[in-house]
Amino acid sequence: MGRVLIIGAGGVATVAAHKVAQNADVFTDIMIVSRTQSKCDAIVKAIGNPTIKTAQVDADDVDQLVALFNNFKPELVMNLALPYQDLTIMEACLKAGVNYLDTANYEPKDVAHFEYSWQWVFHDRFKQAGLTAILGCGFDPGVSGVYTAYAAKHYFDKVEYLDIVDCNAGNHHKAFATNFNPEINIREITQNGRYYQDGKWIQTKPLEIHKPLNYPNIGPKDSYLLYHEELESLVKHYPTIKRARFWMTFGQEYLTHLRVIQDIGMARIDPVIYNGQEIIPLQFLKAVLPNPQDLGANYEGETSIGCRIRGMKDGKERTYYVYNNCSHQAAYKETGMQAVSYTTGVPAMIGAEMFFKGLWNRPGVNNVEEFDPDPFMEQLNKQGLPWHEAFDIDLEL
Ligand code: NDP
Repeated sequence: MGRVLIIGAGGVATVAAHKVAQNADVFTDIMIVSRTQSKCDAIVKAIGNPTIKTAQVDADDVDQLVALFNNFKPELVMNLALPYQDLTIMEACLKAGVNYLDTANYEPKDVAHFEYSWQWVFHDRFKQAGLTAILGCGFDPGVSGVYTAYAAKHYFDKVEYLDIVDCNAGNHHKAFATNFNPEINIREITQNGRYYQDGKWIQTKPLEIHKPLNYPNIGPKDSYLLYHEELESLVKHYPTIKRARFWMTFGQEYLTHLRVIQDIGMARIDPVIYNGQEIIPLQFLKAVLPNPQDLGANYEGETSIGCRIRGMKDGKERTYYVYNNCSHQAAYKETGMQAVSYTTGVPAMIGAEMFFKGLWNRPGVNNVEEFDPDPFMEQLNKQGLPWHEAFDIDLEL
């Protein structure tokens, strides 16, 4: 029934591959491809299912991708490589007639800027081809959009204030490490902040706005306002939203390291000449930082990610908080990866499952909140990311 091709062999792909393999009733034929084939083979070995195929591909190259798709003939491609590859993979999907899913929106390599416009322009072509593209199906973006859709469907007539809150209260016992691809992570955090209010985007300096927020089972953590891509699609799809913001926790030690990295020029993404060769400082930094995939073994504590929503129901104001807490150790025991990869890889698998079951199948380019949230929410509880709700509480925001 389900012939799926996973592109990428990093932390997120490793988790998604484990979960895809666990759901053999939905995913009948699986292939994992990436730049380095040995990493795909290692995932297959860890899963222990030798029927999973692997191959090498450069996902920046449309022709290579098309040849691969025509050979394996997947129904759906799960793009779990890097945001730089989104457009080439979407192009190849159109050429080979394959459906598409990803977890992060496109970013050009030379500018730290992300917005959906680059992918939304594919809408008519996917629609005409009768192909479904599901964008941003990790946790945030991903579950954050599904939570919002669920709240809007069941609890609100109008969603007016949306705060997505992302806390990692884990300790990996390293002086400095990022929880997913360091290059993508540092680009995201060091850019200006932005939030939506009364129809306008308001820009802030990087990490300028912060406040302590209480997270369930964790307590208060200083939380920083960042721009995050799902804000763009959520304010488009829920025009009643008056204000939408995104908050992420960082410890002081992390921020001090980040400041030094920036001050000494190691966060630069423009090429510099070193020993007669062009290098990008941030890419070099990635090579010497701990690999996010190796953090799991000693990672303690948990993540807590959710949506805090205020709006109107039957003429009265109400509040709603929906969240998941995920233990780094439990994630590691199941998949060999920490909770940040786990909370991204599991929703990617569920999105693919929704597609194969015909529940999220709509030709065109879609953000997750455009689909029915109910079957996805049900699967979150069954696949390792149970959620909890609180009503009419103080949201602190
Ligand atoms: P990793 O860096 O661990 O893995 C990326 C993988 O993509 C690597 O296996 C890499 O290959 C492969 N790759 C990179 N370039 C190419 C290429 N040109 N052709 C083929 N393969 C390529 O990243 P993560 O697993 O941490 O993250 C994966 C994705 O998930 C990213 O897009 C990230 O932004 C997104 N993400 C989304 C979140 C969400 O909640 N929505 C949260 C966290 C991450 P190689 O090993 O050879 O370098």
